[in-house]
Amino acid sequence: MTVCNSCRYCEGLCAVFPAMEMRRAFPDGDLNYLANLCHACGACFYDCQFSPPHEFDVNVPRVLAQVRAQSYRAYVWPPAFAGMFERNGLIIAVVAGLCVAAFLVGFVALADPEVLLTTQTGPGAFYRVMPHWIMAALFSAAFVYALVAMAMSLRLFWRHITQPGEPPADLRALWQAIADTGRLRYLGGGGSGCMNEDERPADRRKPYHHLTFYGFLLCFAATVVATLYHFLLGREAPYPWYDIPVVLGTLGGIGLVIGGAGLLAAKERRDPALRDQQRRGMDMAFIVMLLMTGITGLALLVLRATPAMGLLLALHLGMIFGFFITMPYGKFVHGLYRFVALVRYARERRQLATGGG
Ligand code: SF4
Ligand code: SF4
Repeated sequence: MTVCNSCRYCEGLCAVFPAMEMRRAFPDGDLNYLANLCHACGACFYDCQFSPPHEFDVNVPRVLAQVRAQSYRAYVWPPAFAGMFERNGLIIAVVAGLCVAAFLVGFVALADPEVLLTTQTGPGAFYRVMPHWIMAALFSAAFVYALVAMAMSLRLFWRHITQPGEPPADLRALWQAIADTGRLRYLGGGGSGCMNEDERPADRRKPYHHLTFYGFLLCFAATVVATLYHFLLGREAPYPWYDIPVVLGTLGGIGLVIGGAGLLAAKERRDPALRDQQRRGMDMAFIVMLLMTGITGLALLVLRATPAMGLLLALHLGMIFGFFITMPYGKFVHGLYRFVALVRYARERRQLATGGG
């Protein structure tokens, strides 16, 4: 950062360099802030006259990826779970496998074996396999736990990247950060696109990331609408294909599958020089979890009126449950930290423009 701060050649590429230029020293909090502003597009690596083989060995994307990974550990809640970020791919895979197994065993214990192995149709078909109240209680508890853990982490992160006594974010900064996140403004490498193995910018990560992000939001919206149907209207799942939860869930599932597969392929094409190889497992585990959630959800939709429904429901619910409980301890947090860093950046820029900081 000190070399970059003298050079400033890359200041037009993304938010990292303007934020860096507002500083003269780089304590841990500021480095974590800058690292989480970086979207790893790679543009500054290829533009840099000091990147390898130059003796300065400047590699901003890789160093910031390493700092980012360390920041996930530093702010994790509870701190005793910091080790979850080591060998994260293996841990996530084991947790997902155990969750699927637990749902399978639970179904066998709870449901009449005949129900599990025969075709179930009509309202309440899923709940003949697993009672609704157990499903709702389990997933609510997992989701609330994940929300609390992530809120605690973000609180610590915000404190570390701001000055003591600084007020919470204002609405204009929040709105700017939402707009920048919604269009992945800084994933474009200064406008030309992400760099890949051939050093030519190609904006392929961005559309796949959009599909995954909005696919996830659509699936979440489908769950919210289905919950409202159940508790407010007394309508039980499964719903017909044209009903709102199914339409939202289907579009979301397609987004997760295409986006997830695209991101996996794009990851393989990335220049190894840009990667933090030690965190590759964490990246892959996150994408695979989202991909599997989409695949199992779509398979359940297509085959829900067949004897395979029980098995597919266990697979799908196990994947989602595993995803929920590992959300605070995997790559999911990258979006949250980036969002908070963008809020900070929007406020810093305005303070600078108005002469307030
Ligand atoms: S990455 Fe290289 S070219 Fe860009 S600002 Fe830093 S030192 Fe300069
Ligand atoms: S977002 Fe791209 S240009 Fe900006 S620091 Fe990260 S890799 Fe470099």
